[in-house]
Amino acid sequence: MPSDSAVLVPELQIAVLSSKKRPASVLVVILVTLAVLLTVATSVWELWSSRRQRVESAQRYSSNMAQVLASYTRTAMRSAELILESVAQDAEADGLDRDRRARLANRLAGLGAKATELNGLFVFDARGEVVASSVRHVAFDVADRDYFVHHRDHPGIQTHIGIPVVSRTTGTWVVPISRRLQHADGSFAGIALATMHLNLFERVYDQLNVGATGTVLFATADGRLLYRRPFQEKLVGKDIADAPLMRLYRTLGPSGSGILTAPIDGVTRLYSYRHLGDYPLIIAVGLSDDEIYAGWTRSAIQAGAALLAVVALQVWLSRRLLRQLAIRDGLEQQLQLVTAGLAQANRELSQQALRDGLTGLANRRAFDQAIHQECARAQRHGAVLTLVMLDVDHFKSYNDRYGHAAGDACLRSIGKILLAHQKRPSDLAARYGGEEFALVLPETDADGAATVAHEVRTAIRALAIPHRDNPGGCVTVSLGVASTAALRAWSGTPDELVVAADAALYAAKHGGRDRVCVHGADAPQADGIAG
Ligand code: GH3
Ligand code: MG
Ligand code: MG
Repeated sequence: MPSDSAVLVPELQIAVLSSKKRPASVLVVILVTLAVLLTVATSVWELWSSRRQRVESAQRYSSNMAQVLASYTRTAMRSAELILESVAQDAEADGLDRDRRARLANRLAGLGAKATELNGLFVFDARGEVVASSVRHVAFDVADRDYFVHHRDHPGIQTHIGIPVVSRTTGTWVVPISRRLQHADGSFAGIALATMHLNLFERVYDQLNVGATGTVLFATADGRLLYRRPFQEKLVGKDIADAPLMRLYRTLGPSGSGILTAPIDGVTRLYSYRHLGDYPLIIAVGLSDDEIYAGWTRSAIQAGAALLAVVALQVWLSRRLLRQLAIRDGLEQQLQLVTAGLAQANRELSQQALRDGLTGLANRRAFDQAIHQECARAQRHGAVLTLVMLDVDHFKSYNDRYGHAAGDACLRSIGKILLAHQKRPSDLAARYGGEEFALVLPETDADGAATVAHEVRTAIRALAIPHRDNPGGCVTVSLGVASTAALRAWSGTPDELVVAADAALYAAKHGGRDRVCVHGADAPQADGIAG
């Protein structure tokens, strides 16, 4: 049936597509989750790497700064040491007699005037009393000072850098740099002392931008603090040997960097330190987190806010998309229901188009299709096909006497009989038109079909539908049987078979009605008229 297959094809397509269909919402959720994760991961990675770059550049900066400071301090120490060396040689050569003192004092004053980084230049005798100085009119002794005690008790002419003290001449903080004087026999003769302004370091360090909470340290290699920025008197000489910075120095050697928390103020900083090389001194520069991450924190907050906005937008858009998908799914389901309903209605219409409304048998159109198909099949396989045509006897007068409604009821009863004799699946009972019916019987010969025709005729008579204008007083039918086997040189078209069956029916009518005539048989068969 072409109309049915026309409906089935899109239905099949829908079924195939439906079997491949996956929930789009799950895919959207996966896609959006991946997009959000990717966005977050990319942003976090970028922030993290820019933070790392900050730390690296801060480390380079503090390391360079430590190097500059170390280099400056070494130069200042070296020049002080050279001056001391020269003074010491003079003092040792000339001796410290009273008559030599004026000459020595002049020399010290001359050197002191040139070396602006020095607070004063002094020579003390073995008792610690001042012998000569670059500062005029001073009289004091240093017998109690650590550096004096050190040289007195330690033979050797190495330069000694002492813990800063408050100058007894100027009252300012100074770093004592001293050297032992000795007699020709090596015995202690006194010391030469150069005092360097502590604020000299302060001035230099202050010029370096280490930030508000950054720091600069200047300590001896064995852990005595000489100077720390910001300057605090109480920290001068403090033992920091066990501080994290000194531990780092002992671990890494002459130079290094590390993130440490200072015990002095509890602030965590990135420290870079450097040993002065020639002198047992260490310079360290510390940059606090605030300075390192100042700009970064602000841009990280901005980037975080932008990231949040992007993620929120992604989530919002995906929610809208999901809602749209849900609406489309709903529409699709409704459409499928409507389509299924339409297909069902279509099928019913197609069936109705092939059914006879009064009897429920196949109608003329279905008959035409079936007879064409069966003729073609019979022709193909060389099989026998038999057609039985049936016509109600004197039906016009039945209608006239009993009315049209009764006539319809009579036709329905005959239809049921014919339906009951449609025994094989390939058999077809049809209403040919008006009060004429047909039975298409594939693979049935004329004898078999005649038997069926007789059964039909007998069954209709057995209904005993009253018909006073018909001989016998009840409704009867005449039947004509034609088989393809009896057709001479059958071309395979249905028309020849229909014409032959019609001729047999005509013969049955002329033979007296209520009988079966077989096309090609010698004489019309008739029986059972009685009744
Ligand atoms: P015959 O024995 O030679 O066949 O005589 P007849 O009266 O049956 O033949 P005719 O062809 O003259 O009359 C056929 C009648 O069948 C005419 C018409 O009123 C009736 N008829 C055709 N179709 C229908 C139908 O659907 N319902 C009813 N009630 N009658 C119908
Ligand atoms: Mg007729
Ligand atoms: Mg008739």
